[in-house]
Amino acid sequence: MVFVKDGEVVAPGEPLCIQEEFSPGDNTGLDGQGRVFAKVLGIASYDKSKRVVSVKPLKPAQSIKVGDQVIAQVRSIQDKIAVVTILSAGGRALKHPKTAVIIPRKGMKEDMKDVVGVGDIIIAQVITQFMGVIGVSIWRPNLGVVLGVCDKCSSILNKAKMGLVCPKCGEKHKRKIVPFYGNMERIALM
Ligand SMILES: [Zn+2]
Repeated sequence: MVFVKDGEVVAPGEPLCIQEEFSPGDNTGLDGQGRVFAKVLGIASYDKSKRVVSVKPLKPAQSIKVGDQVIAQVRSIQDKIAVVTILSAGGRALKHPKTAVIIPRKGMKEDMKDVVGVGDIIIAQVITQFMGVIGVSIWRPNLGVVLGVCDKCSSILNKAKMGLVCPKCGEKHKRKIVPFYGNMERIALM
């Protein structure tokens, strides 16, 4: 007895067949009733000659392309650049977060520390990808800090008239924020 067709998408725990038909292969298991089940989300694959069933895992789209909008967290700041970790790209969380660099804009006078802070969550766009180094931009109006973190006490910063202010310690911070800064509903949709 076979429960799903060859090439069908199966969920973890989904029964594939009884053991007498096909024995368990990659990414499958055997339950107490002699049924072979899928252990991962993937494509069911029945090898009729070897009489083995396996599941080929579905790989989430993890590639990052130039032009993608990404959510990232700022890790460290040097004079004119910042190193960030990309958490999601194109609305999908990355299984393996990737490191990227915020590229300064042309003729940038201010220091990067007056644009972003360590720990901040930013929305950015991928503008270069060269030899495995991802460069992102935050200079368009809809890009920049969506959640700022106080470098003194780690509180989430509030939007103030000029830049951001810490609700706990009162420290003022310069940041390049997005127009919807602090709008959690909007941020949750990213
Ligand atoms: Zn603070």
